[in-house]
Amino acid sequence: MIEEKIKSLRDDLNKYSYNYYVLDNPLISDYEYDTLYKELEALESEHPELITPDSPTQRVGGISTGFTEHKHKYRLYSLDNTYNAEELCKWYERVQKECGEKVELVCELKIDGLAIALTYKDGMFTTGVTRGDGVTGENITQNLKTIKAIPLKLFKSADVEVRGEIYMPKTSFEKLNEEFLQNGEKVFANPRNAAAGSLRQLDSSITAKRDLSMFTYTAIIEKADFEPKTHWDAIQYIKELGFKTNPHIRLVDDIEGAIQFCKDWETKRFDLNYATDGVVIKVNRFDYQRELGFTARAPKWATAFKFPPEEISTKLIDIELGVGKTGAVTPVAVLEPVNLAGSVVSRASLHNFDEIQRLDVRIGDRVLIKKAAEIIPKVIKVADTEGHEKLSVYEPDDICPECGSKLVTKEGEVNLFCVNPSCPAVLKAKLEYWVSKEAMDIDFIGPSVIAQMYELGLVKTPVDFYKLTYDDFLKLDLVKDKSATNMYKSIQESKTKSFARFLTGLSIKMVGKETAEIIANEFSNLEGLYSASKEQLAETEGVGEKIAKEIYEFFHDKNNILMLNEFKNLGFEFKNDNVLKTDELQGKTFVLTGTLTTMTRDEAGDKIKMKGGKTSSSVSKNTSYVVAGANPGSKLDKAEKLGVIILDEEGFLKLIGEI
Ligand code: NAD
Repeated sequence: MIEEKIKSLRDDLNKYSYNYYVLDNPLISDYEYDTLYKELEALESEHPELITPDSPTQRVGGISTGFTEHKHKYRLYSLDNTYNAEELCKWYERVQKECGEKVELVCELKIDGLAIALTYKDGMFTTGVTRGDGVTGENITQNLKTIKAIPLKLFKSADVEVRGEIYMPKTSFEKLNEEFLQNGEKVFANPRNAAAGSLRQLDSSITAKRDLSMFTYTAIIEKADFEPKTHWDAIQYIKELGFKTNPHIRLVDDIEGAIQFCKDWETKRFDLNYATDGVVIKVNRFDYQRELGFTARAPKWATAFKFPPEEISTKLIDIELGVGKTGAVTPVAVLEPVNLAGSVVSRASLHNFDEIQRLDVRIGDRVLIKKAAEIIPKVIKVADTEGHEKLSVYEPDDICPECGSKLVTKEGEVNLFCVNPSCPAVLKAKLEYWVSKEAMDIDFIGPSVIAQMYELGLVKTPVDFYKLTYDDFLKLDLVKDKSATNMYKSIQESKTKSFARFLTGLSIKMVGKETAEIIANEFSNLEGLYSASKEQLAETEGVGEKIAKEIYEFFHDKNNILMLNEFKNLGFEFKNDNVLKTDELQGKTFVLTGTLTTMTRDEAGDKIKMKGGKTSSSVSKNTSYVVAGANPGSKLDKAEKLGVIILDEEGFLKLIGEI
């Protein structure tokens, strides 16, 4: 029984390893792999007689492919890892016991790329080898020479072997996949696989075209003008030699400091343009490192804390159709609930029907789902193809799930559409968008309240919100005096919201917040939009012909005009921010990061725009100011690096003349 269990775990892990290392096409998430691995490790430690040489626990990572083999002069180890702080404390206790005192630790981000070793002789790059199984790797020197972050000649003459991680920036990975998609080629599952696949090209001119970089994190110094005694000093020396090292490194007194570092990066990592899957914690002093030594697979003086998984596989139970405010019908994956990045997920996005076809996702498949910061999880691929062929190919229904009308295709659109103007799903989606933060930002009214109001026949279009009486709110479940007052007040107060917000809330096709702001500024009021020609609209910067057509048609539709007149009669002010706008910040671009105390980042952005400035989501040399609140993230580091002026909240308020 135990023997069978061990064998099945071993077979599964070997299959997953092969797909991960050789095919660069992982079938399950790292978290699941690590969980199975730990299970096998535990069983093997109880039954050491059952350990076989082909067990994944007996070796370090990768398997080689088409390159010449190269035996490493110094073995490259793997790292033990954990997903929880308690185990980190246990590791530190062992370290402390061995060293006889509290030891300093260095915390580094664990770059999710490909480990390589580079040899330099008299300061010249000679050989570059993948980690492989730690003893033998693949000689990929030619390909590595195409990577700009790898110096061909060091700033100092030294004999040294450095190790580091090759990675592909997230933005380059997305661009590459987009190109692949357009050419009908298979896409990479994640930036790590893209880096590995790019590096293993037999034609180095292909590698040269891929945007790869490297962070160096270790050096074995054979001959040099300096002999570091600690890992921290070695990193400084690596920089002096001309290598790129990761700037997010911290020297801490003990494990508490290391745990804090892990916590800090658990969310901050999403701001980075490269993937990190955890933190590597290393004993700083080399004499202690020597004392602690290695297990068969990993150093005892280092350990990795892995971040909660962003990816996990689960079963696809069903595909439901959702109908949005434009009538676009989008498929939603209904999943067997799983814990992903700290929350239970039971639904995920499948984007559109083309995507289902591209991924060949079928109901009953195990699928890999992924979650990035603040983004709803999405299905990225079929996780395990076993049994897949036997499942039926998904055929989209061409009937609206809500109103039963026939769905239609539209030229140039991948979605199917419900074009029934009174489809309850479309109407409810429009009502929800009206009250959303992006549009009128009305408190106390959410999707469930709207659903009830709709069912009771109280609202059908946004204008109906403003006709509701106090007593109408009392008809809703659990709504008593206080919440009825709150709801009534917040709806009525929204009448004074800006014209741009009003336009956003109208759900005009292709007109989101940004475009609504542009047209509100340009055409000032409803009369301006009624009299604008299609050409005038299209000439507006950031609008263009397609959007102009949608806007024009909206404001010349009889029913829409009647609705807009109703808004007017209900006392809407259509206040235009433009009237108050100044040009003090003309030509200045701001990046907002971190949490501000006296306003939200959106409100700060509005203030900037009111004064003629612009906001951007990323820091570049064209950024004029970075406004940094609490826990600012990597944007602040980038600003420091580029010498961009950094303002705290007070500085910002002074700049815009509010204090
Ligand atoms: P690992 O990736 O967990 O850790 C070791 C590696 O970390 C080193 O070799 C090095 O490349 C890297 N690293 C990154 N930053 C570093 C830094 N600052 N200092 C030191 N090292 C740093 O171990 P591994 O042996 O490379 O791979 C095993 C892991 O791969 C598993 O734990 C699993 O998560 C994953 N895996 C996943 C699948 C799958 O199907 N999803 C299959 C096989 C392996």
